Amino acid sequence: MSLLELRDLHITYRSERGDVPAVRGVSLTIDPGETVGLAGESGCGKSTIAGAVLRLLPKQTLIGGQVLLDGEDVYQMKPGQLRAARWTSAAIVFQGALHALNPVQRVGKQIAEAILLHSSHSKQVATQRVGDLLERVGLPPHRARAYPHQLSGGQRQRVLIALALACEPKLLIADEPTTALDVMVQAQVLELLAELQRDRGLGLLFITHDLSVLTSTCERLAVMYAGRIVEDGPSHDVFGTPEHPYSAALARAFPTIGDPASRMNPTGLAGDPPNPANLPSGCPFHPRCDKAIEACSATDVELRQVGVARRAACIHIPVEGGIDRG
Ligand code: ADP
Ligand code: MG
Repeated sequence: MSLLELRDLHITYRSERGDVPAVRGVSLTIDPGETVGLAGESGCGKSTIAGAVLRLLPKQTLIGGQVLLDGEDVYQMKPGQLRAARWTSAAIVFQGALHALNPVQRVGKQIAEAILLHSSHSKQVATQRVGDLLERVGLPPHRARAYPHQLSGGQRQRVLIALALACEPKLLIADEPTTALDVMVQAQVLELLAELQRDRGLGLLFITHDLSVLTSTCERLAVMYAGRIVEDGPSHDVFGTPEHPYSAALARAFPTIGDPASRMNPTGLAGDPPNPANLPSGCPFHPRCDKAIEACSATDVELRQVGVARRAACIHIPVEGGIDRG
């Protein structure tokens, strides 16, 4: 059974200025122990997907399709079930969550509280586990007594990962966990995540706009644009020989891991991704695409099979068997 399965997920935010269809039909599975990267520029819907997995989006948000965690439909869970799932099935390390820690409580206590709240462990066992977890993320156990402000940004990020691992989730969702960190620390946190995945068989959904980071961390990659997956497949293939012009632009923009220059200019593409409330006609990427032909503004192409385990949504990809399901 898959750890996580998104089935034709649609997510529309309701706002005073109208509906925002942020995710428009995303299907994705993560198997136990598998690492999957989700890439795309800011605004493509990546964090919306992360939030949807654990039902953390605003109440009025419209959700279509299904989210299955360990085979259970997250949106059918009773409150108690959902609470348990939030720590033991999947946990999230959020983008820019470096300030998520309580500033007036020692970090060890914060981790211990999560353990006590979601398990039947005694206080003594919880304290022991805090030490183990801190060691696991590369911090000396005595740092449990530190307050958040006594730690560096990289150390706080490690504490957040320890906190997410407190109840031994099977899936860790890491939403841009390294974006706020400098390049050296970023590399260390990535190494840590890779290690956890290897040693504990943790499933990982790793979200970032930096394709090169994903290629070194993840087996599979999905590239998002305007609320959809436009390409997915084995990381090295997607990064090395991208089929979709958008993946190609992302791959060109990040030639080497953590290159500061490419952080400044995320894609090398002119313009920005479209506002989901006002999408271009046809393929939403066509106004920025160097391969666009006239038909691209009229035809919205769905994912097409490219070889065995790869798909891409581009009009230039021949349709298998000559039938376009798109
Ligand atoms: P990413 O993580 O890829 O940068 P997000 O999932 O954060 O993208 O956002 C996708 C789109 O949804 C963006 O256009 C964003 O402005 C919009 N959005 C995010 N949160 C809300 C919200 N609470 N209400 C309305 N629109 C939102
Ligand atoms: Mg985001």
